[in-house]
Amino acid sequence: MKLDQLQLNTKYLDSVNKEFYQLLDATPLDDAFLISYNKKLCDEIGLDYEECETQEFVDFINGKKILDGSIPYSMVYAGHQFGSFVPKLGDGRAINLGSINNWHLQTKGSGLTNYSRQGDGRAVLRSSIREYIISEAMNALDIPTTRALAIIGSEHNVYRGAFDIQKGAVVLRASDSWIRIGTFEYFARTKNPKKSLSQLADFVISENYTHLENDENKYEKFFYELVDKTAVLIAKWQAYGFMHGVMNTDNMSVSGVTIDYGPFSFMDYFEKHCICNHTDFEGRYSYNNQPYIAKWNLFVLADSLSFITNFENLKQYLDTFFSLHERAYLELMNKRLGLDINLSGDRNLDLILKLLNALENSKIDYNLFFYKLSQIENIDDFSSILDNCIDPTQMQNWLVDYKKALLLNPRAQNKKCEEMKKVNPKYIIKNYMLQEAIEKAEESDFKLVNDLLNIASNPFAKHEEFERYAKATPLEFANIKLSCSS
Ligand code: AMP
Ligand code: MG
Repeated sequence: MKLDQLQLNTKYLDSVNKEFYQLLDATPLDDAFLISYNKKLCDEIGLDYEECETQEFVDFINGKKILDGSIPYSMVYAGHQFGSFVPKLGDGRAINLGSINNWHLQTKGSGLTNYSRQGDGRAVLRSSIREYIISEAMNALDIPTTRALAIIGSEHNVYRGAFDIQKGAVVLRASDSWIRIGTFEYFARTKNPKKSLSQLADFVISENYTHLENDENKYEKFFYELVDKTAVLIAKWQAYGFMHGVMNTDNMSVSGVTIDYGPFSFMDYFEKHCICNHTDFEGRYSYNNQPYIAKWNLFVLADSLSFITNFENLKQYLDTFFSLHERAYLELMNKRLGLDINLSGDRNLDLILKLLNALENSKIDYNLFFYKLSQIENIDDFSSILDNCIDPTQMQNWLVDYKKALLLNPRAQNKKCEEMKKVNPKYIIKNYMLQEAIEKAEESDFKLVNDLLNIASNPFAKHEEFERYAKATPLEFANIKLSCSS
């Protein structure tokens, strides 16, 4: 399809009252240029590659070209940020362009909106590159996520501190929804919450839960399904060592996808209480807290939905969150370990908890451990793992137990490797890799951005030129905290 054939739909504007959005034009960046576009997502949307190499495509992302059917708008929402309620947030730097085949397109960094508060409406190159690449990495690991179609850079100065002058960039993001728990919180605090909330919930259901449209308990069931999806999402994050970093309610999607990437990290060395966000002093969003926070956020949603549902029913369903989360986590961890979950009375919970301790004490790169394990052909030789441990003692003991678990399943020896390989990628995108790509990009060299995008999209493949990225994160870059400045 040609760019001009993309026919966008702005149903949100017809679904809710005017007070919930602002119609506006982007403020284009100066001297914008294309940095990269994502062929995989082009295929999914049906956009021809050549279209992305035109000036028109840059103009489209930069807000200078409006496609057919598009009515650009920003949405208002509220949110609990680090546990404190902020009554009015919103797309302070994002503009929605409309949707095509349920891909809701949105630019991030497009200038001031009514919801910019003290911000400048801009996004800098570094955070834009991080979001662009990591959303593809998540997708390739089958972790539900928003996506990114392209990124443009510019010569536009953006100030992030007295001595920190950056260049503005825009990422064209795509998601099945941009509605957040915080959107429901905002609607619940308006004059006629019942009416507004049912409009919002109806919109979400019509976009993301279509099978519930004619169900008499559609609002409750929407909540139940989101509880299920979120439990699975967090389980996947944790099984791959992912930390979001800012799980505020305005950064939690009502379609159950990972949304709004900031100081995220794929953990380098396993630490239960790892914190990736430099400003998260109390570890509210630490690795281990993520399921608790997700449940807390869903409780906030239940509270908002209480105007149009039976709150007690929602609360009761929410109580299943931890068991759903545990089940999904154990399923994926068993897969990653090549074990048959059904052969163990406790679904190998004890073995997995022991593994986490062994990982923490042996200081082996978390995802490298799984990759090496999936490559082992002789279960009497675990040297490729032990050689990567700084202190192998606990790991050695754990491997004895692991071997016993493996031997419970005679099928395992043959089939194990193939199944394991599908969930244990050779490459995980770490912060230090993104940092290298950012530093090159800041010197106008975008090759590594494109190479990393390729690795992120194909993490199970061999990338000969990038063997170094298949190794453990160098210690000096391991488990560092990042700031939110973006
Ligand atoms: P985030 O931390 O990116 O999830 O953003 C939290 C809130 O701050 C959202 O309402 C954003 O739109 C807003 N925000 C973040 N950065 C900016 C910025 N540079 N300009 C305007 N609003 C911003
Ligand atoms: Mg956000």
